[in-house]
Amino acid sequence: NKQVILKDYVTGFPKESDMQLTTATTKLKLPEGSKGVLVKNLYLSCDPYMRSRMTKREPGASYVDSFNAGSPIVGYGVAKVLESGDPKFKKGDLIWGMTGWEEYSVITATESLFKIQHTDVPLSYYTGILGMPGMTAYVGFYEICNPKKGETVFVSAASGAVGQLVGQFAKLLGCYVVGSAGSKEKVDLLKNKFGFDDAFNYKEEPDLDAALKRYFPEGIDIYFENVGGKMLDAVLQNMRVHGRIAVCGLISQYNLDEPEGCRNLMYLIIKQVRMQGFLVFSYYHLYEKFLEMVLPAIKEGKITYVEDVVEGLESAPAALIGLYAGRNVGKQVVVVSCE
Ligand code: NDP
Repeated sequence: NKQVILKDYVTGFPKESDMQLTTATTKLKLPEGSKGVLVKNLYLSCDPYMRSRMTKREPGASYVDSFNAGSPIVGYGVAKVLESGDPKFKKGDLIWGMTGWEEYSVITATESLFKIQHTDVPLSYYTGILGMPGMTAYVGFYEICNPKKGETVFVSAASGAVGQLVGQFAKLLGCYVVGSAGSKEKVDLLKNKFGFDDAFNYKEEPDLDAALKRYFPEGIDIYFENVGGKMLDAVLQNMRVHGRIAVCGLISQYNLDEPEGCRNLMYLIIKQVRMQGFLVFSYYHLYEKFLEMVLPAIKEGKITYVEDVVEGLESAPAALIGLYAGRNVGKQVVVVSCE
């Protein structure tokens, strides 16, 4: 059983050498009487929040606990059930949910697993558009932002797993949508593939406030926040009265020892803006409703999805740390096995 283990807890930016590929020689079996499942992992998901699990913390100190140093990394994935002690699953079922960064895993927390019912779409989509990031875009945009046709929407990290969908949801509703991303290739994707009205490379903008004033001369109604830091500060100055901000993520802060300060919070008051954080885990009861909306949209070609796929567990550490340098173009997926 090949595995990617976290060697030790991390401070600052994670490195490939913080993780190690090893081979466990004992054959993995479902323990006698277990209510869990033994699975073969097919696709693994690299997600920004995984950085926080690499920091050593007391159990319960954060919304997710730290990984166990010396054990396989844990994350979302798509897998096939080989043996099941849980009556909800049987051999041959495909599932998505929390699994290990290894070829085979025993999953005991089966309550967090979803059975995959629709297989006429790429299975890897259950790490992205049809999995946790897709739900995040859906919940963050529709439940938190209270969007209306004709409103102006700004999305940061807009070409990523979550952002590319937020922009497309906003366009389907008839909003004016601008995205920011960190390379020309990503900006081109936003404009030409995902149908954003406009997009810019934030790394080439010396003055983010001026850039936002250029794209939103009348101000921003909705900001879908993925990055935090300087971008949030610039956005706050450019919000419209009664604007809304969904605080989805703050990736620019995840590897800093001290968070960067935000000077413009006063604008929340001046502009009477609603800014709300959310955790997708609290909204999984909406998963079926989400599928009803998004599956037909994929099949009818109304929504498209770009993935960045690497092959093999040995590629997983570089893929994960690449998220914090913006190396991924679209949803970062690792293929462990194709069957
Ligand atoms: P992405 O696929 O967007 O990958 C991360 C991207 O973030 C990179 O490609 C890079 O794009 C950008 N980035 C990295 N470092 C920085 C930086 N210092 N400043 C600005 N941008 C940076 O990730 P996801 O779509 O999966 O996640 C997007 C956000 O949503 C994250 O903040 C994540 O933590 C959050 N999230 C929150 C959830 C919730 O429940 N609240 C659930 C899921 C995700 P670029 O080249 O454009 O810089």
